[in-house]
Amino acid sequence: MSAKIIDGKALSLSVRENLKSEAARFEKKYGRKVGLAVIKVGDNPASEVYVRNKIKACEDVGVKSFSYNLPGSASESELSELIVALNGDANVDGVLVQLPLPKGINEKKMLALISPEKDADGFHAVNAGGLMLGLPCTKPCTPAGIIELIKSTGVPIAGKSAVVIGRSNIVGKPAAMLLLSEHATVTICHSKTVGLKSYTENADIIVAAVGIKEFVKGDMIKDGAIVIDVGMNRDDGKLYGDVAFAEASEKASYITPVPGGVGPMTVTMLIKNTIESAFRCKEN
Ligand code: NAP
Repeated sequence: MSAKIIDGKALSLSVRENLKSEAARFEKKYGRKVGLAVIKVGDNPASEVYVRNKIKACEDVGVKSFSYNLPGSASESELSELIVALNGDANVDGVLVQLPLPKGINEKKMLALISPEKDADGFHAVNAGGLMLGLPCTKPCTPAGIIELIKSTGVPIAGKSAVVIGRSNIVGKPAAMLLLSEHATVTICHSKTVGLKSYTENADIIVAAVGIKEFVKGDMIKDGAIVIDVGMNRDDGKLYGDVAFAEASEKASYITPVPGGVGPMTVTMLIKNTIESAFRCKEN
């Protein structure tokens, strides 16, 4: 079997078309643009690229971005004061703190300070709890994008056996929870899983969020499976996924490429979250 590529760039562009009209509808109704504040601390080169992409996505869709660049020497109290000020800013609907933060700043503490209503990344405990309980909440961007990518194949998720490799709070766990809410039967695997292949080779859907270059090999994949590669592993200036793409493509029915799969959808879901937060705040 030669897998069909799930084109995250193309899907992302079509979702952005809808977001453009939603952003315009908000502006018309409430007399201002939806606003997203993006905070970067220090000069991590990867963060620079991610922040640039997020700001560009805002521009594409008609969302106003507010960019804050704190020096690497910024203190925890400087960052917390900024977050609290943005929580109270009526022109800001979403607040995002780009991770990782420099050593000496407690990430968990900073993320907890973002108002759950403005938590564009969906990392706050209130939103994580909402996801668990099936309550209206802001969903983490990468897992939300993963679900859209799978749905774009037209293959129903309900009843499928899904294996998520990775249990991080930002990808693995919420991706598993979203697949469960779509009625898949979900297994979460991690570094202590014994006999990983025995799980993956029976899975209809594999989500690889491991952070190890080409970790998932072709012989770990069931014929016809849908394979979603979340990995972003830089090596020799090139970007590699967590899946050995060529051999996996021989087994899978659908597969996401790296780059051009999950990445573009993550940024688009961030903008979607911000627009939804803006409407929710006005209408609830
Ligand atoms: P993470 O926090 O490092 O989590 C990695 C997970 O993989 C952990 O749960 C770990 O298990 C598990 N793992 C490690 N070695 C394993 C092994 N040998 N067998 C099975 N499981 C193993 O990473 P993350 O933040 O979830 O990110 C995962 C990957 O996705 C990274 O490459 C990251 O760059 C990428 N990413 C991409 C996007 C995007 O937009 N495309 C967004 C976020 C992340 P333990 O829990 O037992 O340690």
